[in-house]
Amino acid sequence: MNPATLTEIIDYSRRHTLGIGMFNIVNMEFARAIFDASQETGLPVIFGIPERFMLHYYSPDCMALVCKEMIKHSKVPAAIHLDHGKTFDGVMIALRAGFSSVMFDGSSLDYEENVKQTAEIVKIAHAFGVAVEGELGYVGRAGTDELTPDSFTRPDQAADFVRRTGVDALAVAIGNQHGQYKGIPKLDFERLKVIRGTVECGLVLHGGSGIGNEDFKEAIRCGINKINIYTAMDLAVKDFTRNSFADYASYLDYTKDLTKIVREVVIEHMKLFASVRSN
Ligand SMILES: [Zn+2]
Repeated sequence: MNPATLTEIIDYSRRHTLGIGMFNIVNMEFARAIFDASQETGLPVIFGIPERFMLHYYSPDCMALVCKEMIKHSKVPAAIHLDHGKTFDGVMIALRAGFSSVMFDGSSLDYEENVKQTAEIVKIAHAFGVAVEGELGYVGRAGTDELTPDSFTRPDQAADFVRRTGVDALAVAIGNQHGQYKGIPKLDFERLKVIRGTVECGLVLHGGSGIGNEDFKEAIRCGINKINIYTAMDLAVKDFTRNSFADYASYLDYTKDLTKIVREVVIEHMKLFASVRSN
């Protein structure tokens, strides 16, 4: 099949009342692991390619091609998504490479500038038939950015932002942060419910790694459609490498088992996000 758009993935999430995982790709082993997990579970998936990885670690054309080739053989919908596009040029590179959805993260801009730049990206991406995720509020990074209600998504602003930009999905800040949490984060579900009641578009939870299992389920019940995971895979791979690398005579055999480790983390999250499904 062809890569799914974010809109199709969100529709699936709504029809079945489940969360869809987006998993960031570090290299081809990660892509293989994420694809295999989706085929094994029979659940839709989103291949995440952060702008930072795409510009500094590998070729966006090459990684998009790897994902597209895998998706050709997929039995479930799968999207190729630009995660945290922070620049106009980065988003254009992703569009040219054939990504099926993009995020433009203007959350560090002031509100009016975020609206203006996001709306411009939406106009161009929609002309390519590509859906757009925006961010409002500031998710930030655990241990680096202070977590205060001032950085949370304001429901009244969310409605205005979605109306004026035309985004297809909105990343919300409700106590979630990127990276490794100290302890279990406390999510503001009441705020999430109010946001869900005020906007029609898909809702996205960034910084998923480390959120408690019951909180994931509650977030999905309250309206989250897409959940981003990276740190959980990173930590698992680092642990595995630290403890086992010296035991391998061949790098090839090591990468095979590393792929298995990533696949297990992805499957675990996919199954959890699907465990609230209604049909
Ligand atoms: Zn994020």
